[in-house]
Amino acid sequence: MATLVSDGDPAATRYRQAQRGLTRLLLRDVRRLRRLIIPARLQRSVPDYIGAVQQVVDQYARTSAALGAEFYDVQRSTVRATGPFTVPVASPPPEDQSESSLRWATKDLWPRDPDDPRTTDAQREPIERRLEQAYRKADAVAQKLVSDVGRATIRDAVREDRQAVAWARAAALGACAFCKMLATRGAVYGEDTVRFEAHDSCHCGPVPIFRGQRFELSAHAREWERLYREYAAPYSGDQLQRFRRALAEHGSHPLPGAH
Ligand SMILES: [Zn+2]
Repeated sequence: MATLVSDGDPAATRYRQAQRGLTRLLLRDVRRLRRLIIPARLQRSVPDYIGAVQQVVDQYARTSAALGAEFYDVQRSTVRATGPFTVPVASPPPEDQSESSLRWATKDLWPRDPDDPRTTDAQREPIERRLEQAYRKADAVAQKLVSDVGRATIRDAVREDRQAVAWARAAALGACAFCKMLATRGAVYGEDTVRFEAHDSCHCGPVPIFRGQRFELSAHAREWERLYREYAAPYSGDQLQRFRRALAEHGSHPLPGAH
């Protein structure tokens, strides 16, 4: 008989919470590095900061991958999967990827000519304000880079494991409308071509589905699905907007919030 698996399973929730806990520690460490940026010496100090954040990201990405592998193993052990399988643990983001993301995060720090029409409003802000923005963006970049490695580990495993058939998105009760909308799709993500669309500060995770398992939406995802069908689906082009409103007006869980 097929066993049931759901995006609301306690193990999936525990996994998401573990990733959130990891994010908290990551951000604590990344924020400690802020003092490395010296406004009077941007040329020297911004690259130092970027390099230091990269090292922290690298280290946390390994833990994120290990958490993903552990969750996968636990889920796999609940089905009588034939044959052993070793989860291919995803690598930390390549250096050039984390570097270019962090360069993007800090790009408005550089002094610009205020009279140059290409100078944006963000670049005209006082340095304190630009620093604050850069730190905030760097936090978000680091979080996404780290969380993505955990997700990639699970998705790669699903692709390589002959006993795995699909994965489904698990979103928190407080997740944003975008994530809830994707979560209602259930186990449709078996194909390699579907990306896991995650945004900054998103803690949604994939739940692997194995042969002999039947996927069922959790009660809360079923409610999101119903709201989407009723209030959003018929309005092509405006669906996310309408879904957001429906969640706010008719949903049993608050919007927005932490993911
Ligand atoms: Zn999310």
